[in-house]
Amino acid sequence: MRTAGRVNREIFDGLKTFIKPGITTMDIDDYVAETVKRHGMIAAEKGYGGFPGHVCTSVNEEVVHGIPSRDRVLNEGDIVSVDLVVEYEHYMADSCRTFGVGTISDKAQHLIDTAEKSFFEGIKFAKEGYRLFDISHRIQEVVEGEGYGVIRDYTGHGIGSEMHEDPAIPNYGKAGKGPRLQRGMTLAIEPMIVEGSYETDTLLNDWTVVTQDGGWAAHYENTVFITDGEPDILTI
Ligand code: MG
Repeated sequence: MRTAGRVNREIFDGLKTFIKPGITTMDIDDYVAETVKRHGMIAAEKGYGGFPGHVCTSVNEEVVHGIPSRDRVLNEGDIVSVDLVVEYEHYMADSCRTFGVGTISDKAQHLIDTAEKSFFEGIKFAKEGYRLFDISHRIQEVVEGEGYGVIRDYTGHGIGSEMHEDPAIPNYGKAGKGPRLQRGMTLAIEPMIVEGSYETDTLLNDWTVVTQDGGWAAHYENTVFITDGEPDILTI
């Protein structure tokens, strides 16, 4: 998983300069597919439940599961969340970043920064001995403290030889509740946050999840290995 996670990191480092106004979300898909293949690994989202892309690309009010398309041109000021699962020798590493396209508004940047900040605040509790919802609670506290909403319909998850394993990891909840964390667990922790209401709809393509109110969304995710000390982030 750590070996796969290095490719997640390499791809996101590359996308920082690759993503610019005028490219399409399919260009991102091509970039991901070629990079993963060059490492002899697999972009595991391709074909998962019938998903058509190698990676999810969700733009502006799209929260998760956006389908890459040659028709979706990214414009100056847009934001795009790229959610990537790399598989190596049957083990998975899952991470996501939201990128600004060209120059973005301060408002959009703050949304992106808050998603990232909530992750790092949350994982202060990602250690043996804490309860799972200690992480969830801290993420919710940080996000709502900035006046944003936390998505309810989608959660983080355990990960290993399967992309999605138990437990579900909500980005909201009561501190002191949930399963007790144990060393050796590998968790995909992923705040999905929105400017307004957390209510979502799924588009007629059966995949793309959007906010009902049209508010923009940001998403920050890493695969984290639980130890009895500091959390070990496998995708950074
Ligand atoms: Mg993911």
